[in-house]
Amino acid sequence: MEGHFYGQVFQDSDVYKWLEAVGNVLMLGRDEKLEAQADSVIDIIARAQQPDGYLDTYFIIEEPDKRWTNVLECHELYCAGHFIEGAVAYYLATGKEKVYETALRLADHIDSVFGPEEGKLHGYPGHQEIEMALLRLCDVSGDERYQKLAQYFIDARGTNRFFEEEFERRGSRCFWTGEKVEEPNRWFNQFPYNYYNQFHLPVRKQKKAVGHAVRGVYMYAAMADLAWRLKDRELFDAGKAVWNNIVERQLYITGGIGATHSGEAFTADYDLPNDTNYSETCASIGLIFFAQKMLQTEAEGVYGDVIEQALYNTVLGGMNYEGNRFFYVNPLAVVPKACADNTERNHVKPVRQKWFACACCPPNIARLIAGLWKYIYTVKANCVYVHLYMGNESSVKLGDCTLHLTQETNYPWDGKVALKVKADTPEPLEIALRIPRWSHEYTQG
Ligand SMILES: [Zn+2]
Repeated sequence: MEGHFYGQVFQDSDVYKWLEAVGNVLMLGRDEKLEAQADSVIDIIARAQQPDGYLDTYFIIEEPDKRWTNVLECHELYCAGHFIEGAVAYYLATGKEKVYETALRLADHIDSVFGPEEGKLHGYPGHQEIEMALLRLCDVSGDERYQKLAQYFIDARGTNRFFEEEFERRGSRCFWTGEKVEEPNRWFNQFPYNYYNQFHLPVRKQKKAVGHAVRGVYMYAAMADLAWRLKDRELFDAGKAVWNNIVERQLYITGGIGATHSGEAFTADYDLPNDTNYSETCASIGLIFFAQKMLQTEAEGVYGDVIEQALYNTVLGGMNYEGNRFFYVNPLAVVPKACADNTERNHVKPVRQKWFACACCPPNIARLIAGLWKYIYTVKANCVYVHLYMGNESSVKLGDCTLHLTQETNYPWDGKVALKVKADTPEPLEIALRIPRWSHEYTQG
């Protein structure tokens, strides 16, 4: 209650991503020390929550009367989404309800502020993320309101003048510089903000990946997830068109996306410079989310191929072996001296950094790697699909029976994979194996 907020306006999200990583780790085995640390963080978060459920420490501390007045720039929905995802992971791992109830109160508050009804804000996030989180919360709580709200955020986007009107209401001022500007966001990127923030078209009409890459893939992942839940072909097809655009025309051989530092954004088809590209670690993580959500509807090998490509190159390359130094930007070619001397290249760091003023990537790697088990298998009807090859022991539910799967492998250093299967049923079951597209031959033992 004393002092000032410092750091990035979206900095709450870093600790929420850490909490999600903790939840993912604890799902593999409880750990008293780690839980005690997480519980003390949760106590602080719960105490910060306002009586009406609102939670965002920048606005609580600095501008309590300006809540929800700059949804475009200020990341309140983004931070809320990360908190909900962290809370759900921790609750599922430990059964501790405090964090889960805090998340429900926050989601209910957001539901009371946004939506199509008269008197609510007809808006959607400036930085997408909340859509994925609400769908996850719907799974765990069984409350369809959260899915409806996620659908509202997806379907309202690009159909009204919400961001334009909000910008006018706040006197056309840029949050970051405080100055009156012609258009938001232009001081750091060359794209009109409707492209940068992906509201240039209704979401269902978007066919090409544009704008800020991380925002884009978080939204496309939510579209694919929602399309699967609703069996909504139109929404799935929009996601698929964007997927094809990324994979066929805007994807680096390393699984990196976002060819320019200006707006950390997608650019033109086939524009893939090796040395000035951005390829943010978070963008490749979001691409993995997108691929996994597409797999729910369509068990195609390409999704596992892209997960593998992004994971083993950009994502793992984004961190050192010790786990304490990171790349934010992942180009394919670097001339160290030019990074300092050439403004076109000064976003590139030739060595991994200890931390960043904008520290989105390190905790994102943590939550992905801690939850990597979610990406190895999916199940459809009476078939289990193996997407990733990595050492693991897993139990997979297939209808009424349980399949125990063990993989032994030194992949990717060695292409040999031993998959052992134990089923508690005499009924025939199917196992589908992804044949990596780089593999010119394979044998089955
Ligand atoms: Zn990042």
